[in-house]
Amino acid sequence: MDDHEITRARLVMLGRQGAGKGTQCVRLAAHFGEPHISTGDMLRAAVAAGTKMGLRVKDIMDSGALVSDELMINVIAERLELPDATRGYILDGFPRTVPQGEELDEITADRPLHVVINLDVPEEVVIERITKRRVCSTCGTNYSTDVPPTRNWTCDVCGGEVVQRPDDTEEAVLERLALYASETLPLVPFYDERGVLLSVDGLGEADDVTARLIAAVDDRLVARR
Ligand code: AMP
Repeated sequence: MDDHEITRARLVMLGRQGAGKGTQCVRLAAHFGEPHISTGDMLRAAVAAGTKMGLRVKDIMDSGALVSDELMINVIAERLELPDATRGYILDGFPRTVPQGEELDEITADRPLHVVINLDVPEEVVIERITKRRVCSTCGTNYSTDVPPTRNWTCDVCGGEVVQRPDDTEEAVLERLALYASETLPLVPFYDERGVLLSVDGLGEADDVTARLIAAVDDRLVARR
């Protein structure tokens, strides 16, 4: 292992929808200096740009269902080839199924995962968080009905329109949580068996959760060296 390698972080963030994965991954990315790779953000950008892939996935996403493993594996394999991700990465929203996890092992065989975080927040808490969530349709900044933008659902950051994501309605949320339990939760024992799982309590103020995450991940990274 060379000196440069010692400073890298290769992380996956698992957790229910609304557990705060996006917010925390942005912060971990800044802290560790690694790219934040969110498959949900990549797909939403493709939908907004009206690309062929965007047209293919829009209805699936709006209903709360999962996009096929095959398409997602291609998306992530291409993304992980870009120069910023060749040594470190923070994955958010991928893998979402055991087949995706198995494929990720292959894709990253030359730069294996250090830590898989399971950001733990109970189901009843995330249902309330998600149905209150509002997001800027232009830049993606998160708000909620409890903490709205200062001016009439206009984004404080970019002036874009702040809306409810089509997949944040109660019906879609219940579908997404059921899929999380059946498709994504099996990744917890999958990574536990590999000795890389780290469960972190996701309840409380975002800043406290960030501090908890950084301390726990740092510990693990140091222990691996
Ligand atoms: P997210 O923002 O991570 O909740 O993702 C939004 C939607 O994008 C999901 O509900 C799925 O429809 C789709 N999606 C994102 N990542 C994946 C993935 N790894 N596998 C399948 N579908 C995905």
